[in-house]
Amino acid sequence: MAELISLVIPSYNEEENIENTVKTLKSILDGEDFDCEFIFVNDGSADKTFEKIAAESEKDERVKGISFSRNFGKEAAIFAGLQAAVGDACVVLDCDLQHPPTLIKEMVAKWREGFEVVEGVKSSRGRESIFHKMSAGLFYRIMSRLIKIDMRATSDYKLLDRKVVNVLLSLTERNTFFRALTFWVGFKSTKLEYDVEERKFGTTKWSFISLMKYAINNATSFSTLPLQIVTFLGVISIIGSVILGIQTLVKFFMGTAEAGFPTVILLELLIGGFIMLSLGIIGHYIARIYEEVKGRPKYIVREHTKNIKGNI
Ligand code: UDP
Ligand code: MG
Repeated sequence: MAELISLVIPSYNEEENIENTVKTLKSILDGEDFDCEFIFVNDGSADKTFEKIAAESEKDERVKGISFSRNFGKEAAIFAGLQAAVGDACVVLDCDLQHPPTLIKEMVAKWREGFEVVEGVKSSRGRESIFHKMSAGLFYRIMSRLIKIDMRATSDYKLLDRKVVNVLLSLTERNTFFRALTFWVGFKSTKLEYDVEERKFGTTKWSFISLMKYAINNATSFSTLPLQIVTFLGVISIIGSVILGIQTLVKFFMGTAEAGFPTVILLELLIGGFIMLSLGIIGHYIARIYEEVKGRPKYIVREHTKNIKGNI
């Protein structure tokens, strides 16, 4: 029996793309020696994305759809798709076809060779605005430093063996970072390069603010370095104040003590700044702990097409 490959496709306000995406995927994958299912996860779109998915599902049994009760983010959509997938391997790809589907065949070939994770690696980022390029560049540089995985070229476009999918689904953390988790879980992996295609319809869902939020969340879920920076800043300011304290005492005993207001104000500002920064970082980690402790689900499903089996 041919292997079943599950395509997991997070979709947020993609009504213009669904029909074309299904058509393109089918035209590329029909006739291959493996079977496919297409799992679209509607991430609380404000447009008719789910209606479009449901319509495609009516036409073809292999198209399946899940719809969230609101926007839970791409990470949640990926996990819901993986949860619903029944294939021997899953391929996660974007709904806007910026991840060229022709690569799927090559991914499957690598998987058949015995690789359990096949990473899609961007050889170019496609055409983006300078601002988007710069903020994304900065984001990936910071992330790579913090989590010690080179994130610059990585993407969410990858094939995962059933074993890897099961491990990912068994992780209990709520705030996931799919792209880095597939490195973290290990397994035999390889890379395939691809050129980012241009988006045909609709616009990107990432703003500078959302990218920054994503960066901070992922940095704190994968690294405690920011907390260590807090300690480091604390030590530095203590050393600084000891030196200044000695200097002040010496001046005092030599009878040359000045009014010294500027020094006091500067010190206040400096130390105040460090403390606020540190509290902010610690607060962020506490917020993360709080979220995990509450144990709320990653996403809430409002409805799904009838051909989705099992619990999602
Ligand atoms: N996406 C999602 N939920 C969100 C934002 C995006 O499911 O909250 C999906 C979106 O529909 C697309 C993929 O994630 O399939 C990548 O989004 P986008 O194309 O906007 O990002 P970019 O390609 O610009 O990085
Ligand atoms: Mg895109």
